[in-house]
Amino acid sequence: MNNTIPAIIFDNIEKNFGSLKVLKGITGEINRGEVVAVIGSSGCGKSTLLRCFNRLETIDNGRLIINGINLSRPTVNYNQLRQLRTQVGMVFQQFNLFPHLSVLENMTLAPRKVLGKTPKESAQLARLYLEKVGLHDKASAYPEQLSGGQKQRVAIARSLCMNPQIMLFDEPTSALDPELVGEVLQVMQQLAAEGMTMVIVTHEMQFAKEVAHQVIFLDKGIVAEKGSAYEVLTNPQSDRLRIFLSRLQ
Ligand code: ADP
Ligand code: MG
Repeated sequence: MNNTIPAIIFDNIEKNFGSLKVLKGITGEINRGEVVAVIGSSGCGKSTLLRCFNRLETIDNGRLIINGINLSRPTVNYNQLRQLRTQVGMVFQQFNLFPHLSVLENMTLAPRKVLGKTPKESAQLARLYLEKVGLHDKASAYPEQLSGGQKQRVAIARSLCMNPQIMLFDEPTSALDPELVGEVLQVMQQLAAEGMTMVIVTHEMQFAKEVAHQVIFLDKGIVAEKGSAYEVLTNPQSDRLRIFLSRLQ
């Protein structure tokens, strides 16, 4: 992949659910290695934007190019969709681990089925990433035996097994007890430090301030403010962002 083109280009994208206009012309650019925090009130379209980035939703208008793959068209060919699925990882608030599979089985499933890796190769890879998230001793555990923080670290490690170039996080710590948030943010901070391109929907403003390069504030389906994390979070221009930030404190 050509490293000079941005990881994600979105230009005036629109998304409607029936008569509900959710994204009303969202424009921006995310470079390789960049960490972007998407913030905004509940219902403003954060998850929808993220879901467009890996084509869990299709856009209705505008231009969207992910890792060189043009998702603007109503149809995308099978090969491109397959590429997209391996190149873009996603981590959800509710972890989405398969409850009937062990940690190792959760992690080796996609590498075997999608990338065609052997059981041995995929298990080696899984153990490598479990080690990375500090859970090397949990390979044979089942999700129900893990804490929320551990489940989320497994979910991140599972995504990493696909060797993604972009990672999307949708409120990865919102379902966690407060004392478990730090261990997940730490893993994400490490990923960021290693140069992973990351788009993170989060309410963790301290984390955003420390780790994000760019912050996008969505308000009712438009980009109300965007810029460096420092600019946006310490010097908000609009009342709406000021109010939003003050409510989080
Ligand atoms: P956020 O993540 O910022 O809380 P969402 O992107 O989840 O917001 O939702 C934005 C709006 O779109 C909300 O009004 C929500 O109810 C609506 N919405 C989201 N997904 C769907 C869907 N699949 N069908 C209909 N409406 C949806
Ligand atoms: Mg959401």
